[in-house]
Parts: sequence; structure tokens; C-alpha cells
Amino acid sequence: MNKPKMAAEKSASRVLMLLSQLERLNEDHKVSNNDAIRQITGKILHLLQTQEKTRKEVTSKGSGGMEVILSSLENTQDLQTTLNILAILNELLTVGGGRRTGVFVSKGGTAILLQMLVSSSKNPPANEELMLHIHTLLVKVGPKVPSDITSSSDRKFGVKSRLNGALNVTLNLVKHNLQNHKLLLPCLQVLRVYSSNLVNAVSLGKSGALEIMFEIIGPFSKKSTTLMKVTLDTLAALLKSGMNARRAVDRGYLPTLLSIYQDWHRHDTRHRHVVIRKSILACIKNLTNIKLGRKAFIDANGMRILYNTSTECLAVRTLDPLVNTSSLIMRKCFPKNRLPLPTIKSVFHHQLPHIAAGGPVAQLYNQPPGVDDVVDESDENEATEVDTENETEYEDDETGHKTQNDDDIETDIKKLRPIQVNTRPFDELRAYEYFCREFSEIFEDNDFESPRSIIPPSSDNSELHRPIIIPTTPSSLGPQNRRPLREDLVTPRPDESPLELDSISISKRPEGTADHDLVCSLGRLVVDGGVNGGSVDGLQDEGGEQAVLEVPDTAALLPLHDPDLYLEMVKSTRSVPAYTEVAYPDYFGHVALNLREPILERVYGVQRMKIFQDIERLIHSSDILDKVVYDLDNQSCPVTDNGESLKFNSKFESGNLRKAIQVRKFEYDLILNSDINSNHYHQWFYFEVSNMRPGVRYRFNIINCEKSNSQFNYGMQVLMYSVQDAINGSPHWVRTGSDICYYKNHFSRSSIAAGGQKGKSYFTLTFTVTFQHKDDVCYFAYHYPYTYSMLKMHLQKLSALRTAQIYYRQDDLCETLGGNSCPLLTITAMPESSSNDHISQFRSRPVVFLSARVHPGETNSSWVMKGTLEFLMSCSPQAQSLRESYIFKIIPMLNPDGVINGNHRCSLSGEDLNRQWQSPNAELHPTIYHAKSLLQYLRATGRTPLVFCDYHGHSRKKNVFMYGCSIKETVWQTNANTSTCDLQEDLGYRTLPKLLSQMAPVFSLSSCSFVVERSKEATARVVVWREIGVQRSYTMESTLCGCDQGKYKGLQIGTSELEEMGAQFCLALLRLRRYTSPLELQNHNSHLLDTENDLIDTRGIPNITSTTTYVLEEDEAAFLEEVDYSAESNDENDPDLEPDLQDNLALLDPSSDSEFSRQDSVN
Ligand SMILES: [Zn+2]
Repeated sequence: MNKPKMAAEKSASRVLMLLSQLERLNEDHKVSNNDAIRQITGKILHLLQTQEKTRKEVTSKGSGGMEVILSSLENTQDLQTTLNILAILNELLTVGGGRRTGVFVSKGGTAILLQMLVSSSKNPPANEELMLHIHTLLVKVGPKVPSDITSSSDRKFGVKSRLNGALNVTLNLVKHNLQNHKLLLPCLQVLRVYSSNLVNAVSLGKSGALEIMFEIIGPFSKKSTTLMKVTLDTLAALLKSGMNARRAVDRGYLPTLLSIYQDWHRHDTRHRHVVIRKSILACIKNLTNIKLGRKAFIDANGMRILYNTSTECLAVRTLDPLVNTSSLIMRKCFPKNRLPLPTIKSVFHHQLPHIAAGGPVAQLYNQPPGVDDVVDESDENEATEVDTENETEYEDDETGHKTQNDDDIETDIKKLRPIQVNTRPFDELRAYEYFCREFSEIFEDNDFESPRSIIPPSSDNSELHRPIIIPTTPSSLGPQNRRPLREDLVTPRPDESPLELDSISISKRPEGTADHDLVCSLGRLVVDGGVNGGSVDGLQDEGGEQAVLEVPDTAALLPLHDPDLYLEMVKSTRSVPAYTEVAYPDYFGHVALNLREPILERVYGVQRMKIFQDIERLIHSSDILDKVVYDLDNQSCPVTDNGESLKFNSKFESGNLRKAIQVRKFEYDLILNSDINSNHYHQWFYFEVSNMRPGVRYRFNIINCEKSNSQFNYGMQVLMYSVQDAINGSPHWVRTGSDICYYKNHFSRSSIAAGGQKGKSYFTLTFTVTFQHKDDVCYFAYHYPYTYSMLKMHLQKLSALRTAQIYYRQDDLCETLGGNSCPLLTITAMPESSSNDHISQFRSRPVVFLSARVHPGETNSSWVMKGTLEFLMSCSPQAQSLRESYIFKIIPMLNPDGVINGNHRCSLSGEDLNRQWQSPNAELHPTIYHAKSLLQYLRATGRTPLVFCDYHGHSRKKNVFMYGCSIKETVWQTNANTSTCDLQEDLGYRTLPKLLSQMAPVFSLSSCSFVVERSKEATARVVVWREIGVQRSYTMESTLCGCDQGKYKGLQIGTSELEEMGAQFCLALLRLRRYTSPLELQNHNSHLLDTENDLIDTRGIPNITSTTTYVLEEDEAAFLEEVDYSAESNDENDPDLEPDLQDNLALLDPSSDSEFSRQDSVN
């Protein structure tokens, strides 16, 4: 070490003078100096002990005091001097916080202490006082907790102690001083610090540390609880090593720990030693990280022991840490179950025209016969233990901002610049002229005379009488595969008999006749003559008397709803399972509730209570009924009704319940069906329940949810519709349910359905409902249902609203895989007259392109779209002015098949359609293919839309917000230093969100993001922005839950707020018109000149980054009650808990730790 130089003393205080004397003595190594040094150090110690200010003087910056002291310590051979100096250091490091420790560490103090420890151990017996001093100091220097990475403690303490050979010295001291508590305590404390390093823990384990710890813990005793606590903490640290855990299990320590825990639980009646009890649990928790440990836990009756002790602790809030840790251990050890299904593949299969090799469907159906995909075999394999324990949350990319980390941001500037090449030749695109007839239409004078006199477009245009063929990918498709687009030219495909649906029967249940209650006489609403030629199973016997169905009179409240028209629409809707039933809510209609529905406040301890009830299934297994009451896989299932079970049904449009199992008298496990031609994507649900008892609390568990978190944990409730209430004048979907929570369960997911990841579990959504009426029929849904048939009904009603001023046209964009048509609407204002000026104004209107419902589970997007459409068809002056400003091209439902068949995410191709925009396949993704082609046509004809917006729903965030695309904001997000001066970007993309935030109470600007992510490169928003060149290309996300700002703060969202949002979107477009310069509107290809800058204030360009939130999926504040989503906590590989492991690996002595030799060789 360098010769320290004392700073020039100014006022030469006493202590500094002493230090400077000491420094001089250190320099000439005379034996005769020993006495003097001893004396001086003694004096310094005295000063420190008596005068507070001297401590500051010694360690003040630049004083060099610490160097002198450490140098003396290194040089001296004299025991008393050593003890003096150690006492001085103890004085200095006791107070003064981390800074003095930091100085000590930075001057090499740790190594000096460790060397002194090792060298003095070589001449036993070691001086006890010396050992005491050294260990007391070491405790101060080492990290206080494993994750302590503050600068003051020695981060490399673990490595240094091992490399200096100190581990066994301390361990031996412990071994030989078991009764000497004065020395034992600091030694154990140091041992705990050593053990927090994983390599050290392994080494200490080999030297018998576990056995010694158990010797100290001994039988239950309240004597020396401090010692007990340190020993348990050391043990817990040691057991983080899998090797030590195995050793401990082999020696039978798990039952020992359980009985020690029980002893403390029994004797610590006044709860004074909760920390000790918690430490015992921490040891058990670490032991159960390994499979062997979990088995030992079950064998030792651990479930029952922890369950019983926890139940006794529940009443005392201060014991929560014990209950929570116990619950974590029990969940971890709960034997993994398979879902009670024959396969996780969807019950229904749809034959695709072709199956892309390597695509998801090929993978799904190419498994060899007999492969059980419900659980993969490897779960039972010890070799994969690491995988199953090392859980990292995988997210489906939903609106996937969980995956939106820095890695996901597009950094390739080339990919952020527009592509100017047309992917399809214009000759092919020319066919889409058919969908843009307004640009060429010839208006006659009589078009403008009276309302409702619009001649069906194209009727007098001879060119359009020919069948319109939209060419598909030329190479793969012959003309025989081309589908005519116009409805009148569509012929039924030979494999499907045309629907002859013309009679509706309302059946009546015979047993219901005894009861005078009206609803009890309700059978199922069945559309006769379905594809199967008759009504579905079990209904024939219900024939006979026709009940008079009392339809709630909602005509005044729901102008767009008409039950009879709805049934008409259902008849032409083609579902894969050939549904013939109609759900009552869709038939009666839903009137928005005129009542505030607050976001539910979470009751403390709900999740814990539910988990304990789940654990009881194992402990009191004889109470479990396990009675299947509904099963799509086994249609003959529903057993004879003994009146004790609920009846379930979801065989109607958008329904998707697969199985219902009565677990206990009033508790049901429910399993959702996978998306068709897929084996996962469950979240959306819609099903019917009947045969309930009023006034009883029923618990429902949807046990195969997949997302790792949900707004159900943050106040969202499920929706319920009561037919009794509807008939009695309240036809509402109502937010309902209590004790709602969403947590990871013990049903394991097959890696086949989890993206190849093993050891994943499903999640449970649980809710409790008390029904009000006897003999009711109730429906539950994830969100307000909005079926395809409902869309068709609404469109028909809307088209009837057109006046002489409104230009409204509905085309079929294409036919879907399932044989349904995909409506495309064109809405604008009729030209004022047939004069050239008016026609020219009409044709020069910019295009606004809107779409919705590409994701079937996001029904909220349909309600927003309904609001938009209603506004556009209304006769308000603003609506007229908006129609005069733009030509609207709207695809209200991009994924009709998914909606009809109750999918959550995909189309019938088993794929997420919003990931197909880059290269949609004409056969497999027809709606996307033709929507994109239409956009390409618009661009090729100089009519690039001014705005593109795709409506979505968001399951994990509140409010409504937008995602847009900006090169600059994307580049800034990844690297603020990147020179962006060469990037030209207009700020117009910000105007619409900004306007919305001023106008729409549910809209939140701070949730908007304009960053382009790699994972989103094939979404509508990014492709339309980049390939079509629409600067204002957006995804608009509406919450499924509610708002945490604005007028509706604290309320759950309802259909009226969603529809209002859709209308306000229109109003914002009207204002956007005023902010947008006429130049831009006339010349779509020119660089955009914007007067919008007035609105968005470009002076503060740097501010733009600050107002852009880089949105993270999980934006909810943590609960007071810890919501634990991962029962599998495996700290072993957690870098946070091993701050110096990385350092260790770099410093490892290759000869020492054989267990880590692999890492050694890397270095
Ligand atoms: Zn979506």
C-alpha cells in the first residue's frame, strides 16, 4: 500500500497530531517503536470514545487518517496495538453511515481484515478478543442483505472472503464455540454474509455448514432468539444453492423445519417472534425450490401443516407475512394438474383451403396421433427441472407492451422510412375501383330531389354490371377459385346446403309449467332449420306448446335494435359449429345502464382466500364433487338434472364455453374453448347459466386463462344479463361479481401451447355471484357482447337512416373463410347538385379509412364503431359538415368469423389477423388482403387516406388512447444522442390524439405512444403508415375496464361511454379538418404542410419526447396486498439477489469450486 501522507494540519488538533506521529513511526520500522505505537493508538482510541468530533476529523476528506490507521494495522506485530486499532475502526464504522465504511473498503480494509483472520487462525488457539473484533468489523463491511449493493458495503466481500480462505476459519470458530455466544453471534453474522454468495454457499455446504446450523437451531427454545434468527437466515441463504437443498432433503431436514415451525407457532402465542417464524418459512421456501424438496414437503404432510397454521394466523394482520409465505410455498408444492380435457385443440375444426407448411395450423394438426397435448411429458422429467423452475413471464403479444422493451423498438432507420414500391401492379388493383364508385359516379338531377331516393349505386353504369373479380395472388389461383364479390353473384358452395331458416320457435320446458314465473317457461331461442336440418340436441323433446315470449319493449331506447330483424340476420350467419340457438341478450338487445358502475375496490386478502379454498381441494379432497355438467367434447354429457347443479350453455354466436365442472355445491370450474384451429388464446367468454338458486353465493372459476395479469385484479367486473330482469323492463348487461381476482393456478400448460416454454401454468379468473331470481336464465360475458349478426342488423337499420343529403353505400369487401361477407361502407355527403363544381368538390374530399374488431374478443371496439357509424348517419349539422369534409371508408368488422365462433384473438386460419398486414394471403386472410389492396388502390389513384384508424380493445390498461407512428420519437426512444437533424418529420400525427384528449372524456393523451416496435411491424397501423404512406395511421385502444382520469374517473366503462367515444372521434375529425391546410388535402403526395402546428406548438420539440409516454403494459400501481402472480419463485438464478456472483465468476480461482468449473473455463 502506498505511503500515506498526512494532510498539512492547519489547526493541528490533538487527534491529527497523534495520527501524524503514528505515520512517522510507521515509516521507520524499529522494534523500539512498538511501545510508542501502542500508546498512540491507545490515545487515539480514547479520544474517539470520548469526543464525537474526532471521528469526523480522522475520516474527513483528504485527512489520510484511514490510510495511516490501516497501514499501522498491517505493519504491527503487537497484539495490544492490533486490538487498539480494531477498536478504533469499530468506533469509526459504528456511526457515520455508509461513507466511512466506503472509505474503509476503498482503502483495502476488507482484505487486511481477512488476511489477519486467516493468519491468526494458523496459531491456535486464536485470541478470542481478536476474533471478536475482526468479525464484528467484517459484519459492518459486508452487505447487510444479499441485494444490498449500496456503494458503502463491500460488493466483492463474498469473493474476497473465499479467495483469502476465510470461509472455513469462521466456520471452524462457529463449530468450536457453540456455547460461547459472545463470539458465536458475530461469527454467525459473518457466515450469513458469506453465504449470500452462491459459490460460498456451496463451499460452506461441503464443509458441513448445514449440519452445524441445525445443531445450533436445536429443539425449540426461546433462549437467545437473536442467535436463532441469524442462524436461520444463514441456513436460508445456504439453502438457495440447489446442491445444499438436496443435501438437506437427504438428511431429512425438511420435516425437522416443519416441526420447528409448528413449535414456534404453538408457543409464540403473543407473536413476539414473527421474524423467527418467517425465517423458518424462508428455509422451507428455499428447500421447495427443488423438486425433491417439494416431494419431501408433501410427504411430510407440509400442505396440511402450513394450511392449518396459516388458517390460525389469518385473523391477525401482523401475521400476514407468514400467511403469504406459507401460501407461496403451498402453491409451489401443489401438485400440477392437467386440464381435464382430451386435447387443448379447439373442439371445432375448420377445413382450410390450404395449410401453409410451417404455419400454426400445420403445426397444430401435424402432431403424431396419440400425442397428448394437454400436458407435455417432459413435466415429469427431472432433467427439465431447471426449465420448470426458472420461470420468466412470457406474454402473448396482445396489444403486447409487456414485450415492448428497448429490444423491441425498431432501430433500423430503413425500416422506419416509407416504402415507395407498389407490391401489386396497378392492373390488378384496378378491380378495386368497384369499391370507389363515388369517384366516378354520374349523379342525375333527380338524385337530389327527395329523401331516400338514392338510386342504388352503379345501377346505371354499364361497366359495373359485369361480375367484379378481385384477382388474388395470380400464381396460385386459377379463375375457378375466384370469388365474385357482389352479393347477388355469390352462389352457395356445393359443400354447404343453403340455409332455409324461416321459422322461429320458442320452446317451453314441460317441468316449467307448474311454476307461474314467466322466465321458467323460457326454453331456448332456436332458429329452426339450421345447417344440420333441425334444432340441436336435446331440444326436440321440448317441443309442444309454444310459449308467448314477452319481448321487452326497447324500440324507443334502441332505435337500431329489432328482435325480429336480429333473427333474420342470424339465419344468414355461418358458424363452424352450425349454431341454431340465439342468446337472449342478443335477441332482446342491451340498453345501456343509466347508472354509475364504479371500479370495484379490491377487498383485502381476496386472492389469498381464494387460493386457500383451492388448497382445501387437496386437503379435504372428499368434499370435492368433480361433476361434469357441461362438455362440448362429449355432447351426450349433461347428466340428468337433479336440481342440484347449474345448467350451462354457450352454443350460440360468440359463445365459447367448453366445459363446466361442479367442484363443490356452489362452485364451478369453467374451461374456455381455444380459438378455432388453434390450441390457445382463451380470454373472451360468453355463456348462459340457468337452474340457479336465488340468494346463494356461487363461485365461478375460469381456469384456463393465459395472460399473466388482468384488469380483473384492478377493479373490473364481469358482465351479466338476466332474462328475468330484461322481461321486467331492465334489458341491461350489468357489471357484476364480487371476490374477483386473477391468479396463477396449478393447471400446467402444455409447452405446445405456450410457445415451446415448459412449466407454464394457466391463470384463474374467479368471481362470485348471487342470483336474484329463481328460474332465471343469466348470461355472463368478458365484455359487452357484439355479434356479427348484430352488426348486420345495425347496418340495415343505419342504411334506413339515409336522407337525400347522405351518400351511404354498403359493399361486400370479400367473403371470409367461413362463408360470411365482410361489409365495407362508404359514407359521405351527396354532392349539393350535379353541377361541375359540386361534383368536383365531392370527388376531391379526402378519404378517412376506419376499421374495427380484427380481434374478436375486443367487443368494445365494435361499440366504439357503432358510435362512429351512428354519428356519421345522424342528421346533426356537425355530421353533415363532417360528411361534406370527407369520404369515409369503413370496415366495421375485419374478422367476422372470429366473432361468430367465439374466438378471442384469431380468424379461422388460427392466426392473428393483425399480424398479417405485411403479406396477407388472399385465401387465408381475405379481409386483410382486400382491405390492404383497397388502400393500395387508393394510394395508386392519388387518394391516400388522410387518416387511418383501426379500433381495438385493451385488457390491461384504463382509458382510451392511441398508438401512432413517428420516426423521430422511435429513434429518440432508443438513443437520445442520435443525430436526427436529417430526419424530416411532420408533427401532424399528434393532432388527432391531442384533439381527442381535449374533447373525449375517456381519452388519455399520456397513454398514447408513437413508437414503432419490431413486434408490430405487420400490424395495420405500421403497414398502413409505412407502405401506404398514411402519416396519421393509428390503433385506437379502448379499455375493457374503466377510467382513471377525466369525467368518468373511477367508473367502469359502459356501452354509452364507448359509443360516445366513437362519436367524439368524428367530432375530432371535423376539427382536424380545420387544422389541416387545403394544400395538403389537395396534394397528397407533396410534403405535408400543416397549420396543425398552431395546435401542437412546435417550439418545444424536445418536450414532445417528454409528453410521449413510452407505454408499458403493466401500468398499475402495486397493491398493498402483494398480488403474487408467480407461485414459482426461484431466486437461485436471480441476478438481483446475487450481486457479486458476476464478479465472482471473473475472480474465480479455477482450482477451488469444482461445481462452477464450467463458468471458470469461460473466463
Ligand atoms: Zn386488439
